Amino acid sequence: MKTFCGRANPTTGAMEWLEEDEDYDYHQEIARSRYADMLHDKDRNTKYYQGIRAAVCRVKERGEKAVVLDIGTGTGLLSMMAASAGADFCYAIEVFKPMANAAVKIVEKNGFHDKIKVINKHSTEVTVGPDGDMQHRANILVTELFDTELIGEGALPTYEHAHKYLVQEGCEAVPHRATVYVQLVESRRMWAWNKLFPIHVKAEDGEKIIVSPSEMENCPGVPSVCDIQLNQMPSSDFTVLSDVVTMFSVDFSKPVRSASTCYRVQLEPVKSGKAQIVLSWWDIDMDPSGMINCTMAPYWVKPTSAFQWRDHWMQCVYFLPCEEPVLQGEKLYLTACRDAYSVWYKLQKDRGEEENKADVHVETPVCRCQAHLLWNRPRFGELNDQNRTRQYIKSLKTILKTDSVCLCISDGSLLPVLAHYLGAKQFFKANHLEDKIKIIEARPELLTSSHLEDKKISVLVGEPFFTTTLLPWHNLYFWYARTAVATHLTSNVTVLPQAASLHMIIVEFQDLWRIRSPCGTCEGFDVQTMDDMINNSLNFRESKEAEPHPLWEYPCKALSDPQEVLTFDFRKTVPQQCLSTEGSVDLVRKGKSHGAVLWMEYHLAADIFVSTGLMQMSNEKGNCEWNPHCKQAVYFFSSVIESETLSDLPSTVMYAINFEPKTGEIAMDFKL
Ligand code: SAH
Repeated sequence: MKTFCGRANPTTGAMEWLEEDEDYDYHQEIARSRYADMLHDKDRNTKYYQGIRAAVCRVKERGEKAVVLDIGTGTGLLSMMAASAGADFCYAIEVFKPMANAAVKIVEKNGFHDKIKVINKHSTEVTVGPDGDMQHRANILVTELFDTELIGEGALPTYEHAHKYLVQEGCEAVPHRATVYVQLVESRRMWAWNKLFPIHVKAEDGEKIIVSPSEMENCPGVPSVCDIQLNQMPSSDFTVLSDVVTMFSVDFSKPVRSASTCYRVQLEPVKSGKAQIVLSWWDIDMDPSGMINCTMAPYWVKPTSAFQWRDHWMQCVYFLPCEEPVLQGEKLYLTACRDAYSVWYKLQKDRGEEENKADVHVETPVCRCQAHLLWNRPRFGELNDQNRTRQYIKSLKTILKTDSVCLCISDGSLLPVLAHYLGAKQFFKANHLEDKIKIIEARPELLTSSHLEDKKISVLVGEPFFTTTLLPWHNLYFWYARTAVATHLTSNVTVLPQAASLHMIIVEFQDLWRIRSPCGTCEGFDVQTMDDMINNSLNFRESKEAEPHPLWEYPCKALSDPQEVLTFDFRKTVPQQCLSTEGSVDLVRKGKSHGAVLWMEYHLAADIFVSTGLMQMSNEKGNCEWNPHCKQAVYFFSSVIESETLSDLPSTVMYAINFEPKTGEIAMDFKL
């Protein structure tokens, strides 16, 4: 069987659908999956084990046989825990076929095949009865179906169905309950991910302010969850306006309803300020008493001693539909609404019970202004980055003349507006404001002289930014577009940026290495089959490829100095031949070489550069500060070298990097 897979094509700037083997799809799924991260989550694993033991005990104490239903068994881990804890029989349900196959192997290898039946079905397809998948309904329900938003992976409908058809009334559930917590905050940094702030432009004829249209100001944005490593957000970047409050709980041992509903709590701000953001996380109690608790609470809420890093569960940032000034001590109502898969929030002032009750139902946020569909949250953040804007303004000022005819190639860019305010008279914009800026709805290669009113372009600009970009060098599409419009350019055209350069650094990650690290055994169970499977999938296609990660969320230490490895001259057209480089980087600090990080820097004009990667590095410790709006490329080394002291060689990493103009891709290889 063949499947279609979406892939960005950097030479055309478009998403393409490529026909791939069925294998490709599933190798991608395994390679990029969070199974390894879950198996490394010691805190989660030990608490599940304790909870499962306690539940089996309670059932046995009642003199009943312990029959377990494990929905979404993955590696079979939770079923093996139950079997070890003395459960009489486990039904392990897994919908994803490769995982169900792996579970069969892992269960067999650990000697539990007579106690655990792996069923490769979605739980809602499972049948109970003498000829069914399960002989009887289970009396212990074990699952781990949660995402950062708790319910985004469909836990509620799955539980609803399981209580109706697969488990006994009064069953034990592990986890027993989940609780969602919220805290109201003001944060310019996070609010910048959702609204466009006014942009100040100092032009020759005075200061101009670019403001967003009112539809944008009042737009509630998109409902998709914003999940981040909130522990990487310094406390100086937000102001707490309320205590932490419990928003709602779900008891998994009782019938669960997935139908849409709202929950409302009363709040009294601990400080006056602008309510903008609801931060949220959850915890799960593995047993009814609440003694075995696994929490996602961020650092300022939870004692740091118990800290567990994990990437499969983080924290959520919800944007209120509009910012609301609040006063310390006043009465506020915060409403959480949810459907079966997602949650959203609304804040109301106390206007008397009746009035508040009347509009307690909150509509799902739907973007009305289009901007939230065009720009994702990091892109909003980037457009609101005043330092960055200043660099573009400064460089536009140096290149624009009153008679410049400009063409901008970038997605959803504000450069044409900036240039217009800076005095450019003629402006054309390929892809996607007023009569001074003409938006050309044509792909660069289809641009004709009539689009340009028979004028030649004297200034070609781009940030460059394209929505299809996955890896930093995919923005090289600007170069391809520049090449495609070459005949429309004047002979002395100015191109901004004039060049891009690819930079690299060797790093030791504080935690991110875990997502690639084999697990071996987990809570005493041999899960090497899973390690092999992940490794096999990584090697299937992607082994020589980097993957995108927003590194501001994943701290690392530089083991080498940053190094420029390739440059791309936008003043010229894309060459026919490959651009290749080979060399070595010296390791200047001791540590574990987990991988290389790569990013692009754009040379805007004269001595003005913008970096999409490293912003700053402390020389002493090598701590890196990354551009918070961009994803960097991470190439994980297949074997990690550890140098305890600098004299422990190897002290260099050899690299070979190749840019292939035909595909726009960059391939790399490293030798340690
Ligand atoms: N229980 C394992 C794996 C958890 S990941 C552990 O704790 O380590 C969740 C798994 O549940 C995934 O493999 C997913 O494919 C599966 N899954 C999710 N919903 C399901 C459903 N309703 N029926 C069957 N499998 C499901």
